[in-house]
Amino acid sequence: MSGAPGVREFSGTPLTGYKIAFPMISADGARTAFSGLAVGRKHVYLAVDKAVCLNNSRHPVPYRMCKCGFYSFHTLEAARDLTCTPENRDTVVLEVAASGRYRRHELGLRYEAQHVRHVWTGRCRCGRAADVFVDSGHGRNGWRQLTPCCTHCSDRRPVLTLEKFAALTGEGGIDVRVDHAPLSNFLTPDRPPVDYGQQHRVSTPVVDAELAVINARIDELQSHIDRLLHRD
Ligand SMILES: [Zn+2]
Ligand SMILES: [Zn+2]
Repeated sequence: MSGAPGVREFSGTPLTGYKIAFPMISADGARTAFSGLAVGRKHVYLAVDKAVCLNNSRHPVPYRMCKCGFYSFHTLEAARDLTCTPENRDTVVLEVAASGRYRRHELGLRYEAQHVRHVWTGRCRCGRAADVFVDSGHGRNGWRQLTPCCTHCSDRRPVLTLEKFAALTGEGGIDVRVDHAPLSNFLTPDRPPVDYGQQHRVSTPVVDAELAVINARIDELQSHIDRLLHRD
């Protein structure tokens, strides 16, 4: 195997790569899949799939004079870095086994066939770990785009669990889980500390003012009673 950038090669042995993708579910809700970024967003691919050229279906993929093929990075960190930009916040990170024709580049591979092995969700838009998927409201013909979300923010909307997303890929052995590493230094307080002695008291400026008036009336009545009791 040559390490020179862009040299055409073929691998019968899978090569490991990392990438990001948008999680998708078919219109009938029976199959999950992925779509790429930018131009690749037009194409939905399954967990085990072959790349197609959107420009010219007659040449082999990937082709030297074309940009077609699946893309991946050599490292998980490079793929995860892309999830920080606003337009990529709803993506998941994939580990893939790349095979078939491929071209090796400095940062990653461009290749013909891939098998998704691992899927990692990141953080919900609220910052918590995204442990379910919800309908994003986006999509393309035949496919709805899903958004990784936390249970808290799903707010009783229908959710797709990570396990169900894996099962609906139709391929056994795909692992879908939260990438907890980037969240390891964050704390998520449940709520501000509760003072149990005060928790049933409704405290607003209006209620406090009314209580002050009532207390003043009670004091006034008490002084009337005292005067009546001590009158000679
Ligand atoms: Zn092409
Ligand atoms: Zn959330």
